[in-house]
Amino acid sequence: MAVTEPAPAAPPAAYEGILRRQAMRESAARTYARSLPIVPVRARGLTIEGADGRRYLDCLSGAGTLALGHNHPVVLEAIKKVLDSGAPLHVLDLATPVKDAFTTELFATLPREFADNARIQFCGPAGTDAVEAAFKLVRAATGRSGLLAFTGAYHGMTAGALAASGGAEDVRVTRLPYPQDYRCPFGIGGERGAQIAARWTESVLDDPKSGTPAPAGMIVEPVQGEGGVNPAPDGWMRRMRDITASRSIPLIADEVQTGVGRTGAFWAVEHSGVVPDVMVLSKAIGGSLPLAVIVYRSELDTWQPGAHAGTFRGNQLAMAAGTATLAHVRENRLAERAAVLGARMLANLRALAADHPCIGDVRGRGLMIGVELVDPEAAPVDGGNEAPPDPVLAVAVQQECLRRGLIVELGGRHSTVVRLLPPLTLTDEQATAVVDRLADAMAAAERSPHRRTATGSIR
Ligand code: PMP
Repeated sequence: MAVTEPAPAAPPAAYEGILRRQAMRESAARTYARSLPIVPVRARGLTIEGADGRRYLDCLSGAGTLALGHNHPVVLEAIKKVLDSGAPLHVLDLATPVKDAFTTELFATLPREFADNARIQFCGPAGTDAVEAAFKLVRAATGRSGLLAFTGAYHGMTAGALAASGGAEDVRVTRLPYPQDYRCPFGIGGERGAQIAARWTESVLDDPKSGTPAPAGMIVEPVQGEGGVNPAPDGWMRRMRDITASRSIPLIADEVQTGVGRTGAFWAVEHSGVVPDVMVLSKAIGGSLPLAVIVYRSELDTWQPGAHAGTFRGNQLAMAAGTATLAHVRENRLAERAAVLGARMLANLRALAADHPCIGDVRGRGLMIGVELVDPEAAPVDGGNEAPPDPVLAVAVQQECLRRGLIVELGGRHSTVVRLLPPLTLTDEQATAVVDRLADAMAAAERSPHRRTATGSIR
């Protein structure tokens, strides 16, 4: 049944029971399920239908996975074709025609200079597994162990990736400042702020007493996602390339979230023209199914057989869905479409700021957009210009969005950045509907008499 016809709503007792059992049986560590108490039963494109019969515009898109939205026909067709062919679904890391086609399509989309001399490693299915693989690769190739990572970074939840994400103490990771215009740690922002951030990195590497021995690699997100939608300036990315290249430090671009057209270029490194040594890819490359790989400069391929193994490295359905997705984005120039539509949505959201003083900042690149919510009545932090973040308001906005049938994610340092990650297939009308619903939700959350500041005072 097409999603254009509403599904018959399940009786409230049925889906409420599902939610209740989830709360009773699933882990305290569950995440999205807490803020989004819905029971999806069908989905197509931007739309999810809940068991309650309601429809939601899904701007979370599987945490940025669904480049083509839910259940795109080319993806379903590709999956069906594999199923109908009788091909094995589980093949470890053996060669198959499906994998061969995926690798060919992926390499065709990558920057030519990079792909012409690259190798691919199929990893366990999660982005974090590919991040671990990238670290192992550069450690083996350089014989060094330390890593450089940035403030606000997110690379995953396994130990090494987590350490690089600022979530664990690990002396092997040196944290460097990621440039940000809003809440710039140097109080400047803009080009000058980025220059100082780059200079800091350079001085840490060149100062023999900085406490940072020569590292095995530098890992960077071209646009930070979970960190609050912070696009790195192109000039700063090029500086990171120069700094690492001149010191023989492999540069690892984590494009798990930014890849496959999301930021308005097929790969976000293309904005700056930077050619990294390693690219970490997951999410959209599997066309909504789990798939993760690293692609890297051939010279780094010195690790040993089995250096990064795993049972689930051969997901044939994900590879077929991924091939179809990559080809569809490429053939239909959806990266360009994301650039145009994203710029329009950013402009519309910035225009809203005049009526909503709680909007501290609107930023993004392509269809990776963030709206940072602040408490405009509170004094700026540390004598700066920016009002403090307002996590209570952010939760209220997210809930008001949900009531209006709009699913959004919260991210950023204080979970105060409303994140929009719609599919690249978003229509103009849908984009308008998303912005309108968000504006309504903000107005409702601002009006809420029960709104409290993070410190507990009632406004
Ligand atoms: N890197 C980046 C940039 C990410 O955004 C994420 C997930 N949000 C990861 C790595 C980890 O991916 P996964 O959750 O699939 O392990």
